[in-house]
Amino acid sequence: MDVVFSPDHALHDSKSFIVRGTIAAPAEVPRRAEVLQAAVVDDHTVLAPTAHDRGALARVHSPDYLTFLETAHQRWSELPGAGPEILPNVFPARGNATRPDHIVGQAGFHMGDGACPIGSRTWDAARISADVVLTTADRVLDGENHAFSLCRPPGHHAFRDMAAGFCFLNNVAIAAEHVLPTYGRAAIVDFDVHHGNGTQSVFWERDDVLFVSIHGDPVNFYPFFWGHRHERGAGQGMGYTRNIPLPNGTADDGFLEALGSAMETVAAFDPGVLLVSAGFDAQENDPLGILKVTTDGFARVGECMGAFAAERDLPAVLVQEGGYLCDELGLNLAAFLAGYETRRG
Ligand SMILES: [Zn+2]
Repeated sequence: MDVVFSPDHALHDSKSFIVRGTIAAPAEVPRRAEVLQAAVVDDHTVLAPTAHDRGALARVHSPDYLTFLETAHQRWSELPGAGPEILPNVFPARGNATRPDHIVGQAGFHMGDGACPIGSRTWDAARISADVVLTTADRVLDGENHAFSLCRPPGHHAFRDMAAGFCFLNNVAIAAEHVLPTYGRAAIVDFDVHHGNGTQSVFWERDDVLFVSIHGDPVNFYPFFWGHRHERGAGQGMGYTRNIPLPNGTADDGFLEALGSAMETVAAFDPGVLLVSAGFDAQENDPLGILKVTTDGFARVGECMGAFAAERDLPAVLVQEGGYLCDELGLNLAAFLAGYETRRG
């Protein structure tokens, strides 16, 4: 399968992450993408991304937010005593907040938590990550059955106008908007261990994009405020969001059962294209993971989705999300892609 990748992901290399009241080293490091790339280079065709214009980003993200991401680090660095990365320290109170002009206020307005520090080249890396996913989508638009986007930084926690959880631009949402004019209806299945709250928010009121997420139960896990079973969309989008939170410790069989149920929802929606937010942090040895999925479990996830796509001759854009350094990280991706291709053909 074609895998799109750029080594320029390493331009984003943040050093700080607020966790439980301490500033720690983040888990979302360049080494992740190096490990993932090394795991696929022998069995797949690795392609470089092509540059896409800002219009593809603007279908998902607000102009104010894109300008903020592009200019924020320069403005921040001009503050007296500024640290090397933007970490907001003031956040809008809930409801009726005004977007301020000051960079410290805008940082709180556009950054949802302490896990998305912006460094001097974060914008460049995020744009390249979006180019990676758009080039992957182009492969499918050009007639490939499927292609994989090895993008970093990840995207599924990024909202229309807010970064969060290691994410800045919502790659899978950008890809969905890019292919929708061709396919009409898109289904996004997210099996990262964290709920894809940004993606859910982007398509919350839409009936042409189905969003289904399988994740660790947010009752005691990030992102806490989203991903609960009762969240189903609103307005025209009511019923086009489905959340399947899983209890701590869920292993392969429980995970696969949830995936089977998710794919029944996708089948009922009858999309023209499938997009997958593929995170591997549900792995039993992932440092952030609370679920107990094995490498073989991710092969079965790939088989399930590949068989689904084969039965319906459904094109698919597969997109990397999370998954953190552990011995199995690269193996998990390789197993997922092999499982998918085996069944899809
Ligand atoms: Zn995750």
